[in-house]
Amino acid sequence: MTGILDSFGRSINYLRISVTDRCNLRCIYCMPPEGVPQMSHSEILSYEEIQSVVRAAAELGVNKVRLTGGEPLVRADFPHLVKMLSQINGIEELSLTTNGILLKKYALELRQAGLSRVNVSLDTLKADKFRYITRLGELKDVLEGIEAAKEAGLSPVKINTVVMRHMNDDEILDFARMTYREGWHVRFIELMPFKGVAEFIPSIELRQHISLLGKLEPREPMTGNGPALYYSLAQAKGTIGLISPLSELSFCSHCNRVRLTPDGKLRPCLLGEDEIDLKMPLRNNVSMEELKQLILRAVASKPEHHHLKETNDRPVKRKMSQIGG
Ligand code: SAM
Ligand code: SF4
Repeated sequence: MTGILDSFGRSINYLRISVTDRCNLRCIYCMPPEGVPQMSHSEILSYEEIQSVVRAAAELGVNKVRLTGGEPLVRADFPHLVKMLSQINGIEELSLTTNGILLKKYALELRQAGLSRVNVSLDTLKADKFRYITRLGELKDVLEGIEAAKEAGLSPVKINTVVMRHMNDDEILDFARMTYREGWHVRFIELMPFKGVAEFIPSIELRQHISLLGKLEPREPMTGNGPALYYSLAQAKGTIGLISPLSELSFCSHCNRVRLTPDGKLRPCLLGEDEIDLKMPLRNNVSMEELKQLILRAVASKPEHHHLKETNDRPVKRKMSQIGG
């Protein structure tokens, strides 16, 4: 088994890297309308520094890396980072989470640079609602981005949909139909309460609702990256994933990841405030061995589970866009 064993027997083989805190959208559940105060260029890790962290993690058994943000595609020369990371020994899967706005422009270049696949975040299929939720974006750009990613061979393209009561819950069946109309792989994600904009909908309620279209057959994950449960409708080429960080008690027991923030903090848990600084050591010529020890420390300090349910404890120091989702 690859990965680093944590204190609760979970194998951590997945590093999620937020490459920038900047974004070209302002989604209502993620950022305030004015955006968040931006980190300066010197505060965020250089591509060489990110490369060192990934090398060290790969030597410890991490074999999957996902690049996220903010919006990763707004960082200058982003395909160059993809190329640097795709050449690291031991990294078998290098993927991207993006809002899709710039994907049409970059899909082919990213594929050629060694990107394996892409997740596109999309919460509505209606242009006016898209503008409301993202405050800045055009739905058309994302739809064209999805097509460009497919054509470039960045497959499977997965669609991440955050479900919000009275906001986009009227479109759940429309998204589910896209699994047989367009072969989309749609993953419904429970809204996490970083900012009280809407009420989350438990996945079980979604499953019952989607069953109106037919029986949901359980499916093996196509690319096993953790805690989603997968289903499909009859005759659908695509799948439906349910990601339930809030309602599913066993969610954290499947956690396989740690996160790196744009300013070089390793976060053992998305929903906890603990962080281990890698930036200062990196800028003080840390050795590969010492870097590996810091990563091991972060993994060892992963909590068994988050405490959103019992105490409603949520991260307050950073917004989702500054951690990477
Ligand atoms: N900008 C890129 C994007 O939107 O795909 C990458 C960064 S974004 C922070 C990563 C993921 O986090 C997106 O799928 C987004 O929908 C999700 N996200 C952001 N805030 C969230 C929240 N409060 N609850 C659940 N998911 C959230
Ligand atoms: Fe930007 Fe992604 Fe946050 Fe939306 S969810 S504001 S696209 S970082």
